[in-house]
Amino acid sequence: MHNAALAELGMAGEWGYEAIDVAPGGFEQRLGAMPRQGFAGANVTVPHKGAALAIADLLSETAREIGAANTLTFAGGEIGADNTDAAGLLNALPASPAGKRALVLGAGGAARAVVWALVRAGAEVEVWNRTELRSRNLCEELGGRPVPGPDQGAYGLIVNSTAVGLRGEDPFEELPLAAGAFAPGQVVMDMVYGAEPTRLLAAAREAGAAVVDGIEILVQQGALSFRIWTGREAPLDAMRAAARG
Ligand code: NAP
Repeated sequence: MHNAALAELGMAGEWGYEAIDVAPGGFEQRLGAMPRQGFAGANVTVPHKGAALAIADLLSETAREIGAANTLTFAGGEIGADNTDAAGLLNALPASPAGKRALVLGAGGAARAVVWALVRAGAEVEVWNRTELRSRNLCEELGGRPVPGPDQGAYGLIVNSTAVGLRGEDPFEELPLAAGAFAPGQVVMDMVYGAEPTRLLAAAREAGAAVVDGIEILVQQGALSFRIWTGREAPLDAMRAAARG
């Protein structure tokens, strides 16, 4: 996706994006070496998002409040940490969530960015998680209200930020949702990607809801990271085409 964006803008000769596998124990050392190896920055993903925050010299307000960084920059001998997951999610929405009642499923790293973004954007956020203690703690820290038994029809926006569906789990077995209970006028988002459309989104679309898939969210957060590193607006269509293969 990033290499496609670089090619589209004629920057591929000078810039490149590569995947680097790092074991948790080797993160600090690997990251520490990257600035002198010519890297401008890095995306960081599970399980390193917390460690990325700890290693940084400068934190954006977003990264600090969410408690995780997905985008690092190396400039002037310092490591800067940002989080583009939150703004990427908002950019993937078809309309502002301000004033909407929103249900967020999950209380892991992805859910933290989602809740932070939606609360900040003025949505009325409720959070369900399989392990209730985690949703209570998340809401205490970031806002929103934990909800043990959500009323699926009552929300304008429903976001699956659990990992359900990633390994073929049935969302209608594992989550407090029924396939037939989505409604037209609702927006349903699934952070899980790799099996488009996921069973969750297929059912939501069937019921007439608007859907946003995990690839669009991935592209939107990537576009924001691209701008941070390069100072250039990301070519979204080239990134989408690459991400969708
Ligand atoms: P995480 O920190 O490991 O959290 C996992 C969450 O899923 C927890 O809330 C967990 O509940 C819940 N969960 C797992 N299995 C479940 C099941 N069988 N039934 C009910 N709940 C279950 O993971 P994460 O980093 O938040 O990522 C979550 C998902 O979002 C992943 O699929 C990831 O790929 C995706 N993601 C996508 C994007 C994107 O750009 N599209 C960005 C980030 C993440 P418990 O607390 O009860 O364990």
